[in-house]
Amino acid sequence: MSAQQPYKIPVHELDATKKRVHPRFVTGKYQNIRVVSMYFLLALFLILPWIKYDDRQAILFDFAQQRFYIFGLTFLPQDFYFFAFFFIISAFTLFMVTVYAGRVWCGYACPQTIWTHMYQYVEKWVIGDRNKRIKFDKAPMNAEKIAKRSLVYFIWFIMALITALTFVSYVVGTQDLYFSWQSLGGIPFPTWSTMTWSFVGMFTFATYVNAGYMREHMCTHICPYGRFQSVMFDKDTLIVSYDYNRGEPRGTRKKGTHPENLGDCIECTMCVQVCPTGIDIRDGLQVECIQCAACIDACNDVMDKVGYPRGLIRYTTERQLVEKEDTKIISPRIFAYLLLLTALFGVLIYTLNDRVPLEIDIRRDRNALSSINAQGSIENSYIVKITNKTQDKHTYNIALEPQKGMSLQLRFNDLPLDPGESYDMPLSIYGDPAVIDKGQTPIVLTVESDDGKYKVSKENIFTTQGQ
Ligand code: SF4
Ligand code: SF4
Repeated sequence: MSAQQPYKIPVHELDATKKRVHPRFVTGKYQNIRVVSMYFLLALFLILPWIKYDDRQAILFDFAQQRFYIFGLTFLPQDFYFFAFFFIISAFTLFMVTVYAGRVWCGYACPQTIWTHMYQYVEKWVIGDRNKRIKFDKAPMNAEKIAKRSLVYFIWFIMALITALTFVSYVVGTQDLYFSWQSLGGIPFPTWSTMTWSFVGMFTFATYVNAGYMREHMCTHICPYGRFQSVMFDKDTLIVSYDYNRGEPRGTRKKGTHPENLGDCIECTMCVQVCPTGIDIRDGLQVECIQCAACIDACNDVMDKVGYPRGLIRYTTERQLVEKEDTKIISPRIFAYLLLLTALFGVLIYTLNDRVPLEIDIRRDRNALSSINAQGSIENSYIVKITNKTQDKHTYNIALEPQKGMSLQLRFNDLPLDPGESYDMPLSIYGDPAVIDKGQTPIVLTVESDDGKYKVSKENIFTTQGQ
């Protein structure tokens, strides 16, 4: 194809036979942004379990107690719709970002990319840059190779272990994970449950294999987002692209010259050498491309050195690159996503704001519909489960909404509950048979905190049936 012919960005299929990739590390504008973004997220992941809020781990997913704590909020299993809602919002946000900015998540924020980058950096630090690593792989086994490989594996293992411990600390809590020890035959040993040991082992293994060996195969063969993102692209989606019309025909040349029959690509292959998934962006849009922009920085560097304008490989859109038109920033799809996300966020914030951190559940006594006591009153028995979903201790009172001929009898009037604590309170309601209606009568029970801040009412039935 000549440079003048209309050009369409080719889309390539996967090549599952590819050998191990040893990318060259590159610096540049986009790599600086990536490093800041990746290490900021990594620091957040490592630091968050150590942050305390109201004397408790600020973020704790306590599966054993069925309580999730997120700063001042406590969530019970019945609140899981909040999480479902949160994941729906996250998914739509990701879709919108993908339509606008392509696989920016993959290149700048995905844990797989971050851990792969760190593991490759360890190889670079111990063995050397790309060429040394390729040579090292091919070299016969000797003492130096064993020592360097062992050091790489050891550092990888420590990184995997730290990752696993941090992950588990969100569930078990940093206190129980790191500061609970026992002495076994004089040797200090953590007091972890079998489950904790299993999860630490499992996550260590998964991190080690994923970042050490799976790497780009995870993105190209396993991650579902990697497979379907290309169908979300449109002509206005930002993608890392090689400017075919400017670069072709590619070819080597003498330094400081630009032969008339050649384009701007000097065939140095730097864009291929820096690619963490080992592809050649000049072949067109590929499923393996995680849009890390390493090839942009590498090519810009080359262009600077040979004195050609930057941007032979750049972030652009199909509309700009192929149709030579301006990119539409707000397309109907983006607009629809924005509207939807605004509505979803509005509902989430309203629901969270409206949420009372006090849960009550009324169950009737299953053994008898009703009974008659010594004074001749009809008695209905209930169990009221009260859960304190705040981060503070509260005392709660239970009251029956006044109703002619009915009275409430409690074992005790005030119920003190610790943060996150639940209590099943048995109570009876008595009805004067001369005053109350026969059959079923709706009743309302109200639970209120002693400071009057939280109040929840729930309906049930008082019945005369069974007499
Ligand atoms: S880095 Fe730029 S000049 Fe070098 S091969 Fe890639 S596209 Fe061509
Ligand atoms: S082709 Fe470029 S942007 Fe895509 S993964 Fe390779 S280096 Fe990153």
